[in-house]
Amino acid sequence: MGKIRVEALKKSYGANEVLKGIDLEVKEGEVVCVIGPSGSGKSTFLRCINRLEDMTAGTVIVDDRDINDPKTNINKVRENIGMVFQHFNLFPHFNVLKNIMFAPMELGKQSEKEARATALRLLEQVGLSDKADAFPSQLSGGQKQRVAIARALAMNPDIMLFDEPTSALDPEMVGEVLGVMNDLAREGMTMMIVTHEMGFAREVADRVIFMDGGYIVEEGSPDKVFGSPKHERTISFLEKVL
Ligand code: ADP
Ligand code: MG
Repeated sequence: MGKIRVEALKKSYGANEVLKGIDLEVKEGEVVCVIGPSGSGKSTFLRCINRLEDMTAGTVIVDDRDINDPKTNINKVRENIGMVFQHFNLFPHFNVLKNIMFAPMELGKQSEKEARATALRLLEQVGLSDKADAFPSQLSGGQKQRVAIARALAMNPDIMLFDEPTSALDPEMVGEVLGVMNDLAREGMTMMIVTHEMGFAREVADRVIFMDGGYIVEEGSPDKVFGSPKHERTISFLEKVL
């Protein structure tokens, strides 16, 4: 049974149909990398999965819960889905520790003591134990993004969605963030990652999805999609980015 099941998903903004019928099943522990040109609907797709955007048609089922069913508590579903964005969105007036402790405490999931212990453990996991007291403005982009990942993990989600997590980073900081994501993948986290890092996708993905014009044009193993792409649009996209 799929951890995430998407059927005939459509999304329009006014007259602009951005997602034109997406079907996808992501299994528990699977790492799916989503690639494709700018404007192809990748971010919209990811945002429909935790209902940050309301879909126009279709079905999204996360952990057997239909996210559009009025009986589904969408906040409960979201607690189980960590999301990391291109622009870290840390709370600027909180230090690193408080950024990570905030959601679990605010939602009554953890006591202050538990939240602190969790945050310290996660900071160690992302290699930032020495930054607990720093403020976001004192961190590099790569460090901010690692804090953002730790913050998403603090709710103990079992799905992580990443939307171009390294696109805003200076090149020398990309590796440290991809390293943390690689560790998560190896630990069995279910992940969907929109990325332009083709080398990373090839190495870490169980499956690669190529989106163009609101459709999944091609999908398969990294070897298949990168090594022997079938569709003309996939071929021309990969020629540009590889
Ligand atoms: P990608 O992430 O692949 O670059 P997006 O999902 O961000 O693509 O955008 C796909 C299309 O949807 C674009 O044409 C974009 O202009 C449009 N779009 C995205 N978000 C909105 C919005 N909030 N309102 C109106 N149009 C949007
Ligand atoms: Mg995008």
